Amino acid sequence: MSSFVQQLKYPFSQEARHTSQKYARDLGALADLLDLPENFYLIEAAEKRVFSALTFEEIELPNIRDEKEVLIYPTARLIVEEIANPQLRARQAEAESKSVNKQLANEDDQFTMDLCKSSFSWDVESMGGLTERAKLPIQIKTYDMKIRFENFLEVAPDFHAEEWKLVNRFVDNGWTLIRRRELNRLISGRFKQIVLLGRLDIPRLPQRLTEAVQRIETEIKGHIRQSEPFKIDGQINSAFPPCIQKMYDNSVSGQVNLSHVARFALAAFLLRIGMSEDDVNKVFGHSPDKNNRLIEYQVEHIASKRSMTSEVQGYFPTGCKKLQTNNLCPVYAGTTYDPLCQYILNPLGFYSTRAWEISKNITNHSWYAQKKDKKQFF
Ligand code: SF4
Repeated sequence: MSSFVQQLKYPFSQEARHTSQKYARDLGALADLLDLPENFYLIEAAEKRVFSALTFEEIELPNIRDEKEVLIYPTARLIVEEIANPQLRARQAEAESKSVNKQLANEDDQFTMDLCKSSFSWDVESMGGLTERAKLPIQIKTYDMKIRFENFLEVAPDFHAEEWKLVNRFVDNGWTLIRRRELNRLISGRFKQIVLLGRLDIPRLPQRLTEAVQRIETEIKGHIRQSEPFKIDGQINSAFPPCIQKMYDNSVSGQVNLSHVARFALAAFLLRIGMSEDDVNKVFGHSPDKNNRLIEYQVEHIASKRSMTSEVQGYFPTGCKKLQTNNLCPVYAGTTYDPLCQYILNPLGFYSTRAWEISKNITNHSWYAQKKDKKQFF
């Protein structure tokens, strides 16, 4: 590509990686390099970068002192990976991705397409200038570019808006039409995945970097709420919404085979409220078609999913709408009723509110109507 400044803007780029490797061929070499007093400024800048991510501030580009500043990004990753806090990692991924998205807004199309090719091996082509596009059918003239659909699908499923679903896109001969701002979003989304899902082999850290890690760990206490899972005890199901209660009862009764959607919904819900994988496996261990190894595999898969949008690991529990369309909501089906269901969109929202009420001995539910807009009508 690329000027040195662009390497700082796009740390995932091939050129930035080459420059990094010129100074430190791997993370062990980076740790050694950071142990030298003349490189302490890199640690300071990396610590500042992580702190910005932790506090939702914008990441600032380095001061352009010398080429070694390209090592600030991998040093910041080292700090976060050493701490191994999923919420901090999610904040870092978000902040780094936002920074890239902002920088891309000032780049020309050719640079951006080249960046896609050299960094991710994506095939992106221009749809031509305004004059050429003017000849195209009206529905597709506003698209600046096209990207191979398999490249589009590497990132688009992480975005929830309907426009990102492949069924809502123009696809022609394996190409998906996109607008330039959407390409920026795909690039920054791919970078987010790299930060979120990439794991580093942490070498022994030098003293100065260890001190930076310790300072960030101290800061985490003030900026990331340690979410304690709800205590699971003998009262486990007293805060369950009707749908989960029914699936749970069916599962432990050993008389009903839960559908795949029900199994997924129940497992994701139980894991999210803090139940251990072993205990969730036991809930499914009574079903008539039980296959222990398959159940354990499915539960482990649901528990280990890393979400792009959440700081907590595991799939987010299935929402009310989907449960209703799959005939898994007894309130929607009219076989039972709970007033709280009108004010939530996900069984997890029901559970956290009801668990709070139970903890405060609140049995009068009239406050729902005073405090919240109805979200569902039955
Ligand atoms: S409305 Fe939602 S929380 Fe309530 S029973 Fe139906 S699916 Fe469950």
